Amino acid sequence: MRDEALAAVAAAGDLEALREVKVAHSGDRSPLALANREIGALPPHAKADAGKRVGQARGAVNKALAARQTELEAERDARVLVEEAVDVTLPYDRIPAGARHPITTLSERIEDVFVAMGYEVAEGPEVEAEWFNFDALNFPPDHPAREMQDTFFVQGAKGAKGQEGGESGVVLRTHTSPVQIRSMLDRKPPIYVICPGRTFRTDELDATHTPVFHQVELLAVDEGLTMADLKGTLDHMVRALFGEGMSTRLRPNFFPFTEPSAEMDMQCYVCRGASVGNPDRPCRTCSSEGWIELGGCGMVNPRVLIACGIDPEKYSGFAFGFGIERMLMFRHNVEDMRDMVEGDVRFTQPFGMEI
Ligand SMILES: [Zn+2]
Repeated sequence: MRDEALAAVAAAGDLEALREVKVAHSGDRSPLALANREIGALPPHAKADAGKRVGQARGAVNKALAARQTELEAERDARVLVEEAVDVTLPYDRIPAGARHPITTLSERIEDVFVAMGYEVAEGPEVEAEWFNFDALNFPPDHPAREMQDTFFVQGAKGAKGQEGGESGVVLRTHTSPVQIRSMLDRKPPIYVICPGRTFRTDELDATHTPVFHQVELLAVDEGLTMADLKGTLDHMVRALFGEGMSTRLRPNFFPFTEPSAEMDMQCYVCRGASVGNPDRPCRTCSSEGWIELGGCGMVNPRVLIACGIDPEKYSGFAFGFGIERMLMFRHNVEDMRDMVEGDVRFTQPFGMEI
C-alpha cells in the first residue's frame, strides 16, 4: 500500500492530480486509513507491530505528498511568472480618455450659483429671428451692431416673422439676450432665469477674439427690483466663484436694452487691490488696476418690458451678461483664446473632471 501510494505521488503531474492522489492514498477512506482502523480489532500481541508499520507507512506517504506539493507549487509559480509577464515598456496602445471642456464646466458652475438662488436655466435657438436678437431689445433699425460686419446674417429681411407679424431677418444670435426676450414672452413675472449659450460675431479668430463664443446672461423681473438688488446679486456671484470678501463696482455705460446701464468690474481676486499704486507688488492679472472688467449690466429698459407684454409700471427688472471665454482667461491664466477652440485634449485635460 505504501509503495503504491508513493508511486502515485511521484506520478502526479500537477497540483490537481496531486489533490486526487492525496484523497485516494491519505484520505479517510484510503487503504492505509482503513488499515489503521483495523488495528483495534487485532489480538493484543499483534497491535504494537501493526501500529508501528502502518504509522511508518502513513508518515512516509504524508511526507512524500508534502514534498511533491512544494515541488509542484514552485513549478506553477515559475510558469505563471513567464506566462503572465507584462512588459511595461511596450508602447501605450489605448485611445486616451477625453476631458470635459473647461468652458462647459465653468458655465455649469456659474449656473449652479444661480440655480441655488432659485433661478431657472433657460435656453433658446442659436439661429434667431432678427426681431428677437435686435428689435425686441430696443436696437434701432440703423444700429451699427446690425450691420454685416458685426453680425452673421442667415437670411435677409424677409426670412422670418417678427413678433408682431412683421417681417424679420434671420441671424446667428450675437448675444444670449434673445433668450431673455423668449423667457419674458413664455412666462409671467416673477421671472428669474439664467441663459448660458453659444453666440456668434464676425470676428477673426486670434489670441483675444473668436467668432463663436459663450455668454451667460441673467434676467430678473419682479415687483420692486432696484439696482441694489443687481449689485447684491453680482457681489454674491463673484464671492461664489472667486472667494469670500470679493466685491464688484459699476461704471455708467449705455446699452439699448437697459436703462440705466453699467459696466461691471470685479475686484482683482489675485491682489485684491493691493497692487494699485504699489510698484513693489505689481499684479499681472489686473495690470495693477485692482479691478477686472467682467461685462455689462443694468435695469431692463421699460421699452423691452413693453415689447414682451410686461407692464413697466408694475414690474422692473435687472439683467447682466458676460463672456465665459474671457472669465476662463483671467480665472485660469489662459493666454490665447485659440487654445479654447482648437479641441486639443492636452489643453482640456489639466482642468480635470469637475462635474
Ligand atoms: Zn490684481
